[in-house]
Amino acid sequence: MAPPGAPSSSPSSSSSSSSSASTATAGSGSGSATAPTQSRILKFVPWQSSVTADFWHGLANLKLDVLRLDRRPLQIQGFFAPCSHPRISKPLQLTYESLSLELGTESPASDRNRCPAPGTLYNTNTSDEFNSIDRDALMNEETAKVWDDICSGRAEEDSNLLNRFFVICYADLKEWRFKYWFSFPALQFTQAVKHTMFQPASDYFTAEESLRVVSACTAWRTSPLTTCLSFFLLHLSCDGVTVRPLSDWEKCQGSFQILLGFYDPSHLPTNPGWPVRNLLVLAAVRWGLKNVDILCWRELQGRTDLRHCFVTSATFEEFGGIVLPENTNAVPKAAGWEPSARSVDLSSLMNPDMLAKSAADLNLKLMKWRSLPSLNLLLLSKTKCLLLGAGTLGCEVALRLLAWGIRDITFVDYGKVGYSNPLRQPLYQIKDCGRSKVEAAQEALKTKCVDVRAQGHQISIPMAGHSVSGNQVEETFDNFTKLQTLIEEHDVIFLLTDTRESRWLPTILCAAAEQSKIVINAALGFDSFVVMRHGEGPFNSTQDGRLGCYFCTDVVAPTDSTVNRTLDQQCTVSRPALAPIAGALAVEMAVVVMHHPLGPAAPADQAVSVTTSIDQPMGILPHQIRGFLAHYAQLVVSGIAFDGCTACSPKIVSEFKARGFAFILEALNSPNYLEDVAGLTDLLHATNSMSLDWDGEGDSDLGVPDMA
Ligand SMILES: [Zn+2]
Repeated sequence: MAPPGAPSSSPSSSSSSSSSASTATAGSGSGSATAPTQSRILKFVPWQSSVTADFWHGLANLKLDVLRLDRRPLQIQGFFAPCSHPRISKPLQLTYESLSLELGTESPASDRNRCPAPGTLYNTNTSDEFNSIDRDALMNEETAKVWDDICSGRAEEDSNLLNRFFVICYADLKEWRFKYWFSFPALQFTQAVKHTMFQPASDYFTAEESLRVVSACTAWRTSPLTTCLSFFLLHLSCDGVTVRPLSDWEKCQGSFQILLGFYDPSHLPTNPGWPVRNLLVLAAVRWGLKNVDILCWRELQGRTDLRHCFVTSATFEEFGGIVLPENTNAVPKAAGWEPSARSVDLSSLMNPDMLAKSAADLNLKLMKWRSLPSLNLLLLSKTKCLLLGAGTLGCEVALRLLAWGIRDITFVDYGKVGYSNPLRQPLYQIKDCGRSKVEAAQEALKTKCVDVRAQGHQISIPMAGHSVSGNQVEETFDNFTKLQTLIEEHDVIFLLTDTRESRWLPTILCAAAEQSKIVINAALGFDSFVVMRHGEGPFNSTQDGRLGCYFCTDVVAPTDSTVNRTLDQQCTVSRPALAPIAGALAVEMAVVVMHHPLGPAAPADQAVSVTTSIDQPMGILPHQIRGFLAHYAQLVVSGIAFDGCTACSPKIVSEFKARGFAFILEALNSPNYLEDVAGLTDLLHATNSMSLDWDGEGDSDLGVPDMA
């Protein structure tokens, strides 16, 4: 069948594989093949790369969450398939699944249209680093891998190793711009590979052979076991045509004809694609071939059609004079860089919500890189915060919580937005005046952060000393029940209302809650503030020296503080910067408590000099911070729970647990009742005067605000 004079492959005597190769009988088979013509240089069509947007998104997440500044090379996978269009070459593609090895996700299923190619991604941290990377050194390193795969025989077992590629990359995550440069290392012969023909496979094979070739190749392409093996042997014998893996080379010797086949990404009718280059080197080095016919396997819209496949006869020199196995360390030169680096700007492609979501956490994720590796963003994103009060403090606290990555924020407030509010309460605008505060506040948060889960409840918090008449009992009970449910449902409770007595019921409910709550209290005076955390409830506490609550310094029950007060005394009259300062400190304190292994049970740290270094990554965790704007000073103080406290003492909490709302109702209507239960009445009778010290200094000396 082979016409006399047709090119045939012949073994190289210098190869270690020559004994087996010498038994091979190879050559072109078509009766229509023309007589040999002058050989020409065989040029290969460079492989093209294509990267999907979701790959960059996956890489961005990987860098932000896992790699950070880590520069280790990443193991990635590219995907490719034979050319399937007469005018369009197939690129090697990177998709989100390309990162599955690094993301720890399930490996992507490979199939006939997604043959895997092993790749390495070299990620750089700055644009300068990208520009100055030693590309020659990288090329040598990657070429050595290909060479080793060939010399060791691994590439015959897993022929996709011949398709190794690598990418250098710089991801500018602030601007969503990515710079990258692909390389497909192909080992080079010292002299150019030549060929004498490049013709459609339908002309090369006889009609009978064509039928058998189509049948064998279709079987190879449809079997899940072989469809992803992109290099193969086309084995023609008297018994028929089979397609075999490269590792069957020895077994195929003695047959009538062997062609080397590969999935060809090129569409050009005159040139084969890039991947065949390493196959030719393998054939020269391992099998000692000097010429061979090659089947460039291409398809037409996924179907087998030999008119679109090509056969070429490649002739090449003995491989670089290298004799195996002695010189396996001498890695040949390689080519394969794409002509230039490329860049992609995804900022406009990204869904604005997605972009906003990614960008929202950018600063926090960057904090984890160097400044605060122990920052637990998952914990923050899952923590539910309840803000009692949506006024000056509530607005400030909500915004700072968002900035820390908290996404579950619930407001409780009964008020409406007033015309005096927008300037000092940053969640409101003039157009909101007259609306319910909780409704306007949650809407405002959603304009800041797309994935915030904000809620609002318009509830009037029952207040100690504000008596409840008979027709108000039902409504008060409703409000009590809603508040209790909300407190049980949240992890962190912020007390940010503008009167002292409105903090009393939430303090009891937190102290009596099933699970210990983190309770943060902030209160403003004119130019001073207190930010504190409450200790655990008396029956939840397992620590000695349970920390006190806001009411632990009182020797009287809270009363209606608005009676007999002028307007300036009833309203929050504070220097404008006080709420932002106190609100921000309240959030900082809450975040530190969340990260403390003991949570709300964490003991109070004492103040240390600013020149003393602090071991804790987020600094000390005080019980209380008292601020004095007139002095530009802050004090860190602490105090343990008071046994006669009207809000958190064991007597009060156990009475509440026993009587529930009936206890609350009685306390609202009769402040003396609380003092009786707490034992304050007896205490007052026993002593004429009493002062409780906070670390040795009385409240009055500190000018602590008693109402906001
Ligand atoms: Zn207390």
